[in-house]
Amino acid sequence: MGMRARVLMSAVVLAALIGSVIAPPSKAATPLPDPARAGFADRLYRLDCGHSLANDESVWTPGENVGRPIEFSSTCWLIKRGGKWLLWDTGVPESALNDPKGWSTLPQLIVYHLDKTISGQLSAVGLKPDDIQYVAISHTHGDHIGNVALFPNATVLIQRVEYEWISSPDGPNANVNQLKALARKLMGTPKHLQLLDGNTDVFGDGSVTLFPTPGHTPGSQSLLVHLRKSGFIILSGDVAHLDANFRNNVVPTLNTDKAASIASMEKVRTMMGTYHAQLFINHDKAQTDTLKIIPAFYD
Ligand SMILES: [Zn+2]
Repeated sequence: MGMRARVLMSAVVLAALIGSVIAPPSKAATPLPDPARAGFADRLYRLDCGHSLANDESVWTPGENVGRPIEFSSTCWLIKRGGKWLLWDTGVPESALNDPKGWSTLPQLIVYHLDKTISGQLSAVGLKPDDIQYVAISHTHGDHIGNVALFPNATVLIQRVEYEWISSPDGPNANVNQLKALARKLMGTPKHLQLLDGNTDVFGDGSVTLFPTPGHTPGSQSLLVHLRKSGFIILSGDVAHLDANFRNNVVPTLNTDKAASIASMEKVRTMMGTYHAQLFINHDKAQTDTLKIIPAFYD
């Protein structure tokens, strides 16, 4: 190799190295699993990640229930597969614990309360935050990313579109702009960040798949998990907040894209058919209250 070629070569290597330092690693999109061949996760635990009171249900049901208060659940999920653990969403910040004033993402609309910490609930099954390998984020609203900083050694899995959106210029909806500002603060810059470009088979065997369900936010995602006894379960993220909204294609006013929101609900319905899957809706308190909670689990 001549001198000039060698210089060029080292410039290319250097550029590649710099690129890998600056850009977080990404995972190439994968197809959705074959329902007959998908591997199995071992356990799915529900964690209580808070509950909230909003003063105007019509934000979630436009034109109806104006001025009516509504209570929502906030749910995180813990998945065990082999010796690895994945946490789905991180809930309301632990600093809100037992604070009678509560904590808020949009103080004029909604207040969250936290009765139990994530770390306390993890310790109930013998885990410390450092035992969690993956923290997968449905989307960047504060009630889903409030405790990302508790897991500095986990790989954070988030759709690239979502991560880039929170740093994009503000739009016309003041509530949405306020949520983005809070998201930047709570997300910080995770040490191990993996940006996703579509469907992502986390363990490479179809047991846990993240799939885009945009509309609530531009890079929202949901999670499909496969269990031996329970079969397939879809964890909603905020593709819908209430079962009635999901059944009737009702889109909250806070969502960034109404058509995409409806398409995402239709996609989830199609997948529920393909996989004979149940749908666990994060914020639907009536449903959430019927589900098992840690240390009980689905397997
Ligand atoms: Zn949300």
